[in-house]
Amino acid sequence: MTTIDTFDFKGQRAIVRVDFNVPLNEEGKITDDTRIRGALPTLKKVLADGGSLIIMSHMGKPKGKVNPKFSLSQIVDAVSEKLGVEVKFAPDCAKAAEAAAALQPGEVLMLENLRFYAEEEGKPVGIDKEDPAYDEAKKAMKASQKEFAKTLASYADCYINDAFGTAHRRHASTAVVADFFDADHKMLGYLMEKEVAAVDNILSNIKRPFTAIMGGSKVSTKIGIIENLMDKVDNMILCGGMTYTFAKAQGGNIGNSICENDKLDLALDLMAKAKEKGVNLVLGVDCVAGDAFSNDCNTQVCPSNNIPEGWEGMDAGPETRAKFAAAIEGAKTILWNGPAGVFEFDTFTEGSRAIAEAIAKATADGAFSLIGGGDSVACINKFGMADKVSYISTGGGALLEAIEGKVLPGVAAIKGE
Ligand code: AMP
Repeated sequence: MTTIDTFDFKGQRAIVRVDFNVPLNEEGKITDDTRIRGALPTLKKVLADGGSLIIMSHMGKPKGKVNPKFSLSQIVDAVSEKLGVEVKFAPDCAKAAEAAAALQPGEVLMLENLRFYAEEEGKPVGIDKEDPAYDEAKKAMKASQKEFAKTLASYADCYINDAFGTAHRRHASTAVVADFFDADHKMLGYLMEKEVAAVDNILSNIKRPFTAIMGGSKVSTKIGIIENLMDKVDNMILCGGMTYTFAKAQGGNIGNSICENDKLDLALDLMAKAKEKGVNLVLGVDCVAGDAFSNDCNTQVCPSNNIPEGWEGMDAGPETRAKFAAAIEGAKTILWNGPAGVFEFDTFTEGSRAIAEAIAKATADGAFSLIGGGDSVACINKFGMADKVSYISTGGGALLEAIEGKVLPGVAAIKGE
């Protein structure tokens, strides 16, 4: 397989799919540049060899429509600064042939948000799945997605995919475009190689005990990975908003806490499965509840299964934090996805902080720790602990699907698996 290390980019135009879907504040300023920094080694390698770059990415969910709020023009200056080269901008990603052809070695062109075109995701817009005409619309969209990918491919001599965050999607720029390059002219970027190796490390080299920590708002988005991990882990911590679905399923009072009422049976099933497989399932026993969803609400610590009316569980309580830490500190393999509370509010960061601290301690004691998903990464960064864990993944959904053992379309398109 061609690799970025063996390929000589001299005089070549490389089109690189990156994940520059960075969070922006109200003024359009980047609040976390992890993803841009992540792609720099690949981009710099192409330039150092004497090649030129066409950078492409999505940002947010503009759903196939031009929307200035999601314009990548907002990050051109930041990318120029980090790359040390003035980045040119193509305001229409499907009409950039001329700008791409004009690129000289060492020059860089960034395309406007790919998702301003519905063809990027390849899903028909404005038609319901139940509509009898849906299948036809889907077929037509797949054909125009191919054309869109062909246009992108026409800009360059070779293709690099360095966008792990979207590798679990078969989009025009993440997979379809690869069909227009032969095996010698498409490759994974350094970040993708590293991400794939980190997943491999978790799956093929499990040192025990293995503790997985799954948090976030909902259990429904993480069922697949939780079920799959039940076969692999020794300890499974389930935290964050999903705590209250489990508490209610067991007959608890959860006040105003978030809860997926259609997932109560599932919660009980997961508990039974953990028991059957001998997995130590760790659920919150107490929580910090608030009387409003805000940073400056009144708070009280109460049992997770006995929250007063008008109050909602927003973070793990002190007893729970100690239980979490105990299940993490002795571990030798650790996977963390999703915060233990509404960490965006400073009042409710302690659960996530306790997890981060325990992971840092275990890592110092020799554990391999992998943190993935935008929110857990934001937590680690907020606590200034990024250098105290083994690996921070740029992928959320992609990471979880890879750990589930699914082949990622973005990787398969290049490796031919
Ligand atoms: P997810 O996107 O499912 O990984 O969830 C991340 C979000 O879950 C974060 O924005 C947290 O604020 C939120 N979250 C964590 N714990 C709670 C909770 N107890 N109640 C409401 N939201 C929560």
